Amino acid sequence: MNIPLSISEVQNDLVQKKYSCVNLVEHYLSEINTQNKTLNAFLTVTDEYAYTKAKELDRVITDNPHAIKEFPLLGMVVSIKDIYLTKGIRTTAASKVLESFVPQYSSTVVERLESAGAIIIGKTNCDAWAHGASGENSDFGATKNPWNTEFVPGGSSSGSAVSVASGLSFASMGTDTGGSIRLPASFTNVVGFKPTYGVVPRYGVISMASSLDSMGHFTKTVEDSEKIFAVTRGVDGRDSTVVNHSYKAVSPTQKFRIGMPKEYFAKGLSPEIEQKVRAAAQEFEKMGIELVEVSLPHTKYAISVYYIVQPAEVSSNLGRFDGIRFGNNRDSFGEEAKRRIMLGTYVLSSGYYDAYYGKAMKVRSLVIKDFDDAFSSVDAILAPVSPSLPFKIGEKSDDPLQMYLADIYTVAANLAGIPGLALPAGFSESGLPIGFQLLGKRFSEPTLFELGKKYQAVTDWHTKKPS
Ligand code: GLN
Repeated sequence: MNIPLSISEVQNDLVQKKYSCVNLVEHYLSEINTQNKTLNAFLTVTDEYAYTKAKELDRVITDNPHAIKEFPLLGMVVSIKDIYLTKGIRTTAASKVLESFVPQYSSTVVERLESAGAIIIGKTNCDAWAHGASGENSDFGATKNPWNTEFVPGGSSSGSAVSVASGLSFASMGTDTGGSIRLPASFTNVVGFKPTYGVVPRYGVISMASSLDSMGHFTKTVEDSEKIFAVTRGVDGRDSTVVNHSYKAVSPTQKFRIGMPKEYFAKGLSPEIEQKVRAAAQEFEKMGIELVEVSLPHTKYAISVYYIVQPAEVSSNLGRFDGIRFGNNRDSFGEEAKRRIMLGTYVLSSGYYDAYYGKAMKVRSLVIKDFDDAFSSVDAILAPVSPSLPFKIGEKSDDPLQMYLADIYTVAANLAGIPGLALPAGFSESGLPIGFQLLGKRFSEPTLFELGKKYQAVTDWHTKKPS
């Protein structure tokens, strides 16, 4: 079965009865069946659950002529990072601590997707507790990159990215605390979207670092990314940081200016990546969009700030997994979680708080100010996502500091709470995907989507599939 790239095309086919929602579920289940043994993208497959939902939706399509209008994601078969609570479906955060944990309720995002007609096909593998950049930290084994299974697919939302890249689901939900959507998107040739902080509710998602966590998703097209965002965003009354922003559409004829931050094209960036990212920028230039150099002078501190603020929040959030209320006892925590609990506790402890956490929060303000200054003269920033190509499984897993450096271009967006859209930009000589990201000021999602759609209209990288 050949499934089109975008949800509007799938929905057309469904209405014309070229195939049914049940056929779609059959298709994805058979793909999971053949590919998951190699890729390890899914931790739980919800076949019965998906069939029941698909049958229900097929009836809706037959009975209700306005079905597509009423259910904007009708027929979209999705996978969900195993860190979103799903009522009655095991949710592990890829940690042995929650090996057999079955939640009593679903996260807001999952509820919203289902009410919009999406079909959940399973829960995806990730770095345990979303700690990682490669997908290797999962207590249930590493996820493999479908473009070359000796390589990592990027993390922490590894299984979500792979499930979309390999056609095991149509779209997937991930979380981005320091790059965990944008990085695996760029390592697997899919579109990854991280919203503005506080626009999509975090309710019912196992917290990593509460001031950085953003709920986003993976798709093949920007058009679909925008559709999912329209469904997941907005106040739910259960996450007090969420605001109802009234988004206005941007006119496709608007004149845009894109900034290229000089600190993101400095020493340490792979020449092959630089070349592809600059080629992507040229696509915008050919459309008449002006490119200008901008400076984000505090970029060099972003990793240090992130690796103080984030473990501090992690150490607090993981405190609830004491073996009394949820799951197994603390011995089941893996190395990386223990490392972050210790680091976080240290930077928050009396005597060290001012020197580390307090200082990091001050520098975080400077990182935010950098972006505010840059966005006074440009509509978006274009940058690489990762300094290096996907690396080999095992290459960095014994060296946490090397692994942390993979986040060098992604964490600043989380510190500043701004949105980011990662897009496919081509392949390396060795056939591995390369991505770039567009960053915008808070609430500038319509601009990022507009630019992303313009880019996908003139490029076809996103249509390429791993063989
Ligand atoms: N790689 C980063 C980390 O390990 C980001 C994780 C994330 O975004 N969840 O902290």
